[in-house]
Amino acid sequence: MHDIWNPWHGCVKCSEGCQNCYMYFLDRVHGRNGSEIYRTRAGFNYPLQKYKNGAYKIQSGELIRVCMTSDFFLEEADEWRDEAWDIMKNALM
Ligand code: SF4
Repeated sequence: MHDIWNPWHGCVKCSEGCQNCYMYFLDRVHGRNGSEIYRTRAGFNYPLQKYKNGAYKIQSGELIRVCMTSDFFLEEADEWRDEAWDIMKNALM
């Protein structure tokens, strides 16, 4: 299974390839603005979250897609990125 981790949401259109951005489209459908960039509240530490039985929600060795609704290296996310790297490191231990 391929899970998704979105530590932040929203993006900056930076090329022609962004013209028909699916995230912007979906946000518009839901009455939101894809250019508003924010750290996700419930999802930020998702790789470290566990079920009630103590098992990690993301299994060891599972591939995950990161930042499907943003860009991991956005300047606007600079202040959150170190914490996201730490989450990745801790999830691998
Ligand atoms: S999510 Fe991807 S396609 Fe959309 S604006 Fe950001 S970089 Fe462009």
